[in-house]
Amino acid sequence: MPSRTRFAHPDWLAGAAMGSRVRQLLALCFAVCLNGTVQAQELALQRQAMVQDVVQMARSFGLETGTQTIDPRVLAALGRVPRHEFVSSALRNSAYDNRPLPIGHGQTISQPYIVAVMTDLLDVDRGDTALEIGTGSGYQAAVLAELGVKVWSIEIVTTLADEAGERLRRLGYSGVTTRAGDGYHGWPDHGPYDTIIVTAAASHVPPPLLQQLKPGGRMVIPVGAPFQTQQLMLVEKRPDGAVTTRQMMPVRFVPLTGGRD
Ligand code: SAH
Repeated sequence: MPSRTRFAHPDWLAGAAMGSRVRQLLALCFAVCLNGTVQAQELALQRQAMVQDVVQMARSFGLETGTQTIDPRVLAALGRVPRHEFVSSALRNSAYDNRPLPIGHGQTISQPYIVAVMTDLLDVDRGDTALEIGTGSGYQAAVLAELGVKVWSIEIVTTLADEAGERLRRLGYSGVTTRAGDGYHGWPDHGPYDTIIVTAAASHVPPPLLQQLKPGGRMVIPVGAPFQTQQLMLVEKRPDGAVTTRQMMPVRFVPLTGGRD
């Protein structure tokens, strides 16, 4: 009889078995959570060590670059962005080394020190807008977003643009909008911008970018020959529209590609 069959396995026994299964499951969840917490703490420590390296490097190169201290807000932003999420899993162990790392397609995620210097030079405020040329992994955009900046970022390698867009969405950086395309022409629809950051080396400052910079705005761009040492330039557009440029430090960036450079 169907009802007997059902009672052949008494409820209390099923309850006990279920109870032990629930306990096993809880223990497993606890172990996994604990492991996750330990890993998160380890990564946070690595991130803090990376920030300290950046502080030291700024101090050592400061006299040469004129940027001896990095704005504490910038350092705090570097301390929050999970750089390990911006590199392939094979490179996760090196994610917090103070050096550039390959991101595929012959491109690199910039050295944290360079990201810090460039962000510091932009001198952003919460609520500012930024145009970035060269999304790459999306790391620099995330650092700006951590500072309360609304970012529009263009990447010429479509696969990188798609991956970075997906990554930034997954990590909750909703203030960053990305698109694939040639950044030489900028993104006039959302401009003019308070700041513009170019993270690939150009032979000259692209005139469309200068046009899309607000009066009173700042642009940071490496200028020089490809695959050689370039100069990191700080371009300022004064409120009256006059443009000044300053060479800040020697750098090495991948080239700005595309038809117009
Ligand atoms: N900011 C990135 C690193 C940039 S590496 C990060 O945080 O990870 C420079 C990037 O500029 C590369 O991904 C390269 O493909 C891109 N790039 C080169 N020329 C470009 C162009 N004309 N327009 C847009 N992106 C360009």
